[in-house]
Amino acid sequence: MNDLIQLKQLLSIPKDIVITSHRNPDGDAIGSSLALYHYLNKGGHTVHVIFPSEYPDFVAWLPDAAKILIHDIEPEDSERFLKRADIIFCLDYNSLERIDKMGEVIMSLNTTTVLIDHHLYPDAFADFSLSDTTASSTCELVYDFIELLNDKELIDLKISQCLYTGILTDTGSFKYSTSPKLFRIVAHLCELGIDNNIIQDLIFNSMEEKGLRLLGHCLINRMEILEEHQTGIISLSREDYEAFDIQRGDTEGIVNYLLKLKNVKVAALITEQPKIIKLSLRSKGDYSVQAIATKYFNGGGHKNASGGAVYGTLQGTVQKFKNILPEYQHQL
Ligand code: 5GP
Ligand code: MN
Repeated sequence: MNDLIQLKQLLSIPKDIVITSHRNPDGDAIGSSLALYHYLNKGGHTVHVIFPSEYPDFVAWLPDAAKILIHDIEPEDSERFLKRADIIFCLDYNSLERIDKMGEVIMSLNTTTVLIDHHLYPDAFADFSLSDTTASSTCELVYDFIELLNDKELIDLKISQCLYTGILTDTGSFKYSTSPKLFRIVAHLCELGIDNNIIQDLIFNSMEEKGLRLLGHCLINRMEILEEHQTGIISLSREDYEAFDIQRGDTEGIVNYLLKLKNVKVAALITEQPKIIKLSLRSKGDYSVQAIATKYFNGGGHKNASGGAVYGTLQGTVQKFKNILPEYQHQL
């Protein structure tokens, strides 16, 4: 982290702080934001967490999730808090474009910003930045951040539950981007009392029946395997959204099922949203879906997990994705 001493000085006096994370917040976005929220609260700061859009139900149990402001729902309050903040934290995203209107507001202000993130190629917009693209999750970096500020003893059970949630979801329960350092952090969170069984159930075993039926539908009726390109595609139309009453978060994790196939290295979930076509891309090994998301789908993310969106039709976007695959064949 650059200028840590300066930031430490800033935080030594109670401040008005806003913590932001990206649209469609996932477990890491909300876990890191709430962990930092509880930590900063302990330092006597006045803290608000604001997301552009709503978070999924499987994280609603996290301590103080109910206090999070959603810009889509409460734009006036959200912007009022942003405007009066002394410091704005930007967690789990690498560009102000990822938070839509909130990003425009932040750009128009002269407020001190702090970036904590693990996505590739961060924009240079923040005054202080803790960016490590090798980190498993932003939660891992929030732990590092607290440690850098010499406050490790302030990490309590609530903070641990938040951090553990983001680590679990971003590593797919320790399947991706783990390291000895991460397991040492997790060991510390266990010592602080987190219950792995309970948290695993709250996050991964709390589906509604319609969610499991949707998964079945995706695998039986909407999955296409392109042997030549070692690629799997699942596409969902607006009609599927209606038939299965798909809500925010219901498609989370579906794309990963494609990677269970021995001969699949690249996976895509392509969904028809009200205004755009959204892509969730995953890969194994050195194959970079980040390159595809950035070059062709206005997106980005990580080497093995990226996303993007385009205007167009579902069929047209699926075809576009298929047409791109030969260009990346050498990565297989
Ligand atoms: P997911 O497929 O789960 O939505 O996202 C996977 C990864 O890609 C996440 O790290 C997420 O931040 C990133 N990502 C998803 N959608 C977009 C997007 O539209 N733009 C950018 N830059 N990154 C995205
Ligand atoms: Mn993350």
